Amino acid sequence: MSRTVAYLDSTSSTRTEAYRSMSSDAVVRDAGAAFGDQFGALTFSGENMRRRLGSAVLEQLDRTVQYGEALNSSIADEVATAMKDWAIENGCTHYCHWFQPLTGSTAEKHDSFLNLDHNGQPLAEFSGDALICGEPDASSFPSGGVRDTWEARGYTAWDPTSPAFIMRNGGERTLCIPTAFVSWTGESLDLKTPLMRSNEAISKQAMRVLRLFGNDAGVCNVYTTLGCEQEYFLIDEDMAAMRPDLSMCGRTVMGAQPPKGHQLDDHYFGSIPPEVLAFMGEVEERLYELGIPAKTRHNEVAPRQFEIAPLFERANVASDHQQLLMNVLKRAASRHGFSCLLHEKPFAGVNGTGKHNNWSMSTDTGHNLLSPGKGGESNLQFLTFVCAVVRALDMHADILRGSIASAGNDHRLGANEAPPAILSMYTGAELGGVLEKLEAGETACFDSKTELDLGSTVMPTLERHPGDRNRTSPFAFIGNRFEFRAIGGLAAVAWPNTVLNTAVAQSLDYITTAIEAAVADGDTKGSLEASCVAVLSDVLKQHGRVIFNGDNYSQEWHDEAAKRDLPVLRGTADALPTLRREDVAEMFDTYGVMNARELSARIDVLMEIYATTLTIEAGTMLQMADRMVRPSAVRYATELAESCTATEAAGVPCGAAKADLTALVAAMDALGQGETALRAALDHEDDCVDTHVGFIQNTMIPHMDTVREACDAIEGIVPADLWPMPTYTDMLFNS
Ligand code: ADP
Ligand code: MG
Repeated sequence: MSRTVAYLDSTSSTRTEAYRSMSSDAVVRDAGAAFGDQFGALTFSGENMRRRLGSAVLEQLDRTVQYGEALNSSIADEVATAMKDWAIENGCTHYCHWFQPLTGSTAEKHDSFLNLDHNGQPLAEFSGDALICGEPDASSFPSGGVRDTWEARGYTAWDPTSPAFIMRNGGERTLCIPTAFVSWTGESLDLKTPLMRSNEAISKQAMRVLRLFGNDAGVCNVYTTLGCEQEYFLIDEDMAAMRPDLSMCGRTVMGAQPPKGHQLDDHYFGSIPPEVLAFMGEVEERLYELGIPAKTRHNEVAPRQFEIAPLFERANVASDHQQLLMNVLKRAASRHGFSCLLHEKPFAGVNGTGKHNNWSMSTDTGHNLLSPGKGGESNLQFLTFVCAVVRALDMHADILRGSIASAGNDHRLGANEAPPAILSMYTGAELGGVLEKLEAGETACFDSKTELDLGSTVMPTLERHPGDRNRTSPFAFIGNRFEFRAIGGLAAVAWPNTVLNTAVAQSLDYITTAIEAAVADGDTKGSLEASCVAVLSDVLKQHGRVIFNGDNYSQEWHDEAAKRDLPVLRGTADALPTLRREDVAEMFDTYGVMNARELSARIDVLMEIYATTLTIEAGTMLQMADRMVRPSAVRYATELAESCTATEAAGVPCGAAKADLTALVAAMDALGQGETALRAALDHEDDCVDTHVGFIQNTMIPHMDTVREACDAIEGIVPADLWPMPTYTDMLFNS
């Protein structure tokens, strides 16, 4: 048995010594070796692949994976056999095509490697055809009307650019092959296909920019890079199980505020509790095996809130890895007695959960195109890419807002803890200054780093980034990438990145075409620079309004944004329909990302998911109010009434108890009225999903708020021993 396999058979408690004590330099070097053994051990990539495939096949695969060349399907048989042998050696009996349907989660249909030979004897078999194409029944996945139930045929297609991996589930191990999922008619029914198409759209347009500046030598394509920071809550699993709202909806639909929240800022970056560290250690180990480069871990702002961030990767792989990461977090939590909450707002009044989407563009030779150059033409090239993002954000702020709209994220955006619902760009002072000059037709360069003197001779001089950070901005430039900070904690990142890529591809196309035309008009040597400056200056004049470097939480910004005519899209019902506009459909179609049917289907599915989520939440709320809150309230009201009668009979005044009883009965009345209104709202029907979602957002949710308010008031009166579920204080401070 190889070392790798021996390691894989070990349990989480036998983490290597080197990894456990990474603090000293000498050990860090050893740790490198330990990561080497561990990293990607359960993926069919790197050594696992090289050891098993011939050089010709490896070269062909490499051309597809690294340089985006078309897949030569004649290699599939050899790859499939090698993959099967490797998987069986690692304890698999089954394989599955793993994909991301429009539900936003992942799907898998398992098949065993079993086949029978002509004598009826069992043998393990996996053909190239089975690797390349699967045929799950597409009728039970949401298609947004692209397919009817009787039009069931759908295909999964191997994505060779995202490594196959072995998923552990208890003692079982399954070979998972990342795939795209399309209908019999070739329309995408998943999140991966449009993301990959949008990457190609960016690549095509970005290559034109590189050619324009003469920087395309040796570059075959450009890809987007993605690094996601995932926040999450960890609470006691037994407590979570006692709350139907957490079990069913992933968030609490009621719960009075604890006396302490995060006012003291004493949790953020605080020391990580040992039991949480043990959980994080196991998560990282599982992620390393899957080739997911987990890098950063820390306490987040709210009590029981934490963050994990892997290193960035190519967007398609990062998006698959992000889905896997959420899955690993959930499973590991349960092994440690925790429930891991990824919902955007598990606790009202407590900071919610986001996913920061660090995004850039890079050549296949590793040059980050959003890294400022040292001046001259390379800086103009950098500014061309930046201006394309400025233009894309300004032209498509509404659909980018739409791409992150969901029932959960509606609670979070604009709540002064997360970016507001207005999309604007933070450039920082340095880049902001350069863009201002550019708008005026002048060029300016900036150094990517300056020095920061700490004023003590024994302390090192620090390299300072070209701009400060702005935690209030939804879309911030941070030195060499943009951070789209408004994505929800539960979201699959493929969709917002598809929209972002397509919008940027469109602006790269526009700007390059304009510069090319301007260059063709002139014949002087400096015409490229002059043409570029003229075009970028125009772009900034038209679209610079989307740049805002102040406090995005302030009322002044909201007033200013209104003056600048920037879209303020409060909730899903306002934001999602913007993706239905004709010019939007045209853009997706022009850049080969989605046709109009594919786009409209996606919006329908997202609308349905919103409506269903809220229906489940409202139903859960009513059930908890009826079966948990009211019975406790009645018990305590009876106790209070009996106490009042007995106290008065004894000739003692009982003002306080009477006041409690009056308040309790008033809250119970309010609860009853709220419930009646909510029940009526739940019965509301509408054939048009958009207006139905509008009704839910604007009419039904306010009734839910009323019910919640009454329940929380009752919680404040009923004594702890009569309260039927764990409170916010229990979950956030005693987990
Ligand atoms: P923060 O300080 O914003 O909390 P973290 O260090 O937690 O940042 O995470 C930053 C993320 O940005 C990481 O996932 C990192 O790999 C990613 N990142 C860095 N450079 C790039 C890049 N060029 N493209 C995409 N993501 C990047
Ligand atoms: Mg960040």
